[in-house]
Amino acid sequence: MEELLHKDFLEKDDLVRLLSLQGDDMKRLLARALEVKLKYLDNKVHLRGLIEYSNICRKYCLYCGVRSLNDKVHRYVLTDEEVLDCAQQAMDLHYGSIAIQSGERSDKAFTDKITELVRAIKKLSDGKLGITLSLGEQSEEVYREWFEAGAHRYLLRIEASNEELYYRIHPHDERHDFQQRLSCIDTLLKLGYQTGTGVMIGLPFQTVEDLADDLLFFRRKNVAMVGMGPFIPHQETPLYAYADQIPSAQDRMNMTLKMIAVLRLMMPEINMVAATADQTLDPMGREKAIMAGANVIMPNLTPNSHREDYLIYPDKACVGDKPEECSSCLDIRMRAIQHEILYDAWGDSLAFTKSH
Ligand code: SAH
Repeated sequence: MEELLHKDFLEKDDLVRLLSLQGDDMKRLLARALEVKLKYLDNKVHLRGLIEYSNICRKYCLYCGVRSLNDKVHRYVLTDEEVLDCAQQAMDLHYGSIAIQSGERSDKAFTDKITELVRAIKKLSDGKLGITLSLGEQSEEVYREWFEAGAHRYLLRIEASNEELYYRIHPHDERHDFQQRLSCIDTLLKLGYQTGTGVMIGLPFQTVEDLADDLLFFRRKNVAMVGMGPFIPHQETPLYAYADQIPSAQDRMNMTLKMIAVLRLMMPEINMVAATADQTLDPMGREKAIMAGANVIMPNLTPNSHREDYLIYPDKACVGDKPEECSSCLDIRMRAIQHEILYDAWGDSLAFTKSH
């Protein structure tokens, strides 16, 4: 066990063994991952103020609450003013960075609007706010345009790196194409974005071997950031039919913590998010993720009036919190676990900075 926890290069068999640990052995893995994180990245936590720009989406992923075929959702797009207010709030709260996330659209009106907003946020903050985008699959030209406008990080989860599993959680059609998603990740890497990807954990049909392969995928792509979180079944989606066949909430949470911990051993210098979904399953979920090796948190800045409409999964944590409450709450929570939020900083991935 100790040998495994100190091994230089973990192979698939090792990953499966580590992900299968339970009880005290699991605790030892998490403690080792914390030790590695503190050694490479110290106890610093980076913030990305999250702006959920729109829930209009051309896709109908089988797990997602805002899928286009869910007609119970009230669709919205934030106005320019609302977006700029969010960005200003990020400045006022000293968050060094924001992340704009949205349902997927690739029409020109949408992509042009994003370019304009990225430029406006850069201007408003005098270049000080870091900008991460999480706006799904786009053409190389669009990714380039957004990069040139000032976005420097992009998150595009592969969701499941096993193609077969991918097609069990997505429709198999031209709007949900595994190879297309993969090639988008390659394009983002090529263009020079700090690129992040990730998966959901505890999906129906997912095995521990799949999860080990996901970790190998992150290493093979040499990504700068990873965001992973537990799958949470949403009643208005097709995958809800399997809600009684997936691991319990606690098991999904524990598997998420093990995934974070093992990846921290494999890629000590990447940025890793403690996802909001962690906190939805467990009130201490984000703290647990930070203590297992994560180093980024994405506090929500979306105007409260729209948060109920961006329920990709049910019972999302902090939906009622005001941004300033959220900020002081997080500060206290991080101090309580001997971590320190780094304000007014972009918080780039060390893995990326060193290799560029
Ligand atoms: N359309 C954008 C943003 C998607 S929302 C894109 O494709 O990148 C962000 C993430 O929420 C998704 O990548 C997915 O991994 C996660 N998600 C969606 N539905 C979920 C659910 N039911 N449970 C847990 N996570 C979910």
